[in-house]
Amino acid sequence: MVLLDGKKVANNLKKEIMEKVNKLDVKPGLAVICIGENSASKLYVTLKHKICEEIGINIEEYFFDNHVQQNELIELIDRLNHEETIHGILVQSPVPYHINILELFEKIAPEKDIDGFNPINVGKLSQGLNELAPCTPLGVMHLFKEYGIELEGKNCVVIGRSNIVGRPMAQLLINANATVTVCHSKTRNLADITKQADILIVAVGKANFITADMIKDNAVIIDVGINRKDDSKEIVGDVDFESVKNKCSYITPVPGGVGPMTIIMLMENVVKACENITK
Ligand code: NAP
Repeated sequence: MVLLDGKKVANNLKKEIMEKVNKLDVKPGLAVICIGENSASKLYVTLKHKICEEIGINIEEYFFDNHVQQNELIELIDRLNHEETIHGILVQSPVPYHINILELFEKIAPEKDIDGFNPINVGKLSQGLNELAPCTPLGVMHLFKEYGIELEGKNCVVIGRSNIVGRPMAQLLINANATVTVCHSKTRNLADITKQADILIVAVGKANFITADMIKDNAVIIDVGINRKDDSKEIVGDVDFESVKNKCSYITPVPGGVGPMTIIMLMENVVKACENITK
């Protein structure tokens, strides 16, 4: 079994992105909008800030409390859409219930939509154009490339159909000529389907959900899940790593697999957006 070392791959990619940034005539700029009192969101913004500074990306952070109104956020996005020094805009999720996040995604100019959640970019992805695609599935695709894992003609099963992971993951795999099955909470006989997978991608949000009896020998296992164990600090994935590791050919660890790839792909998307906007 080979561990798909997202931490190492992300570190290498970071160096490449830094070199790219050094060659640009302008400094890429990212605006992050964080709404509500959510400690996990604040932690993610801090991590983004740190990596932006390392790479040489300007980051502007906009924090709002739980009482902010939708129109205030739309006004900010409109302003950032026209701001020349900003090349990427993202809204950190989750947001409070009264905020319509899909409308916010729609308001972000497609060329600055570095999360790939604007309907224009979602549509382009479904047409086979991988312009600005969501960062987590992009990170998974990059791992496949780094480790020479062929996708063409492979049976890929994606568990989860969220807008941020499952759906765009399936689209990217289709665009790479894989044969793709998407499963979700209403799927019947899940194990019968997962056992057919050459490549199994799990984005469910349930600790140790996939066990060895649900996979076929030598499958490639991608564990997107991030679950906190018993309210402790320990993070576990959606895959029961200990039982699966001796049966699969490749597997992502949690932590250190898909997680580090997500944030580095965000940096890559900011630089890509900057290059496209300024060319
Ligand atoms: P989500 O929006 O809650 O979606 C979960 C998906 O799992 C849904 O499509 C749901 O089906 C499906 N599901 C739930 N129970 C199931 C079951 N028993 N059998 C089959 N499918 C089932 O979650 P998400 O945002 O995609 O995130 C998934 C996990 O990935 C979470 O642990 C999250 O923290 C993690 N994550 C990690 C990264 C990273 O960088 N590593 C990034 C994003 C997310 P329905 O659609 O029918 O409800």
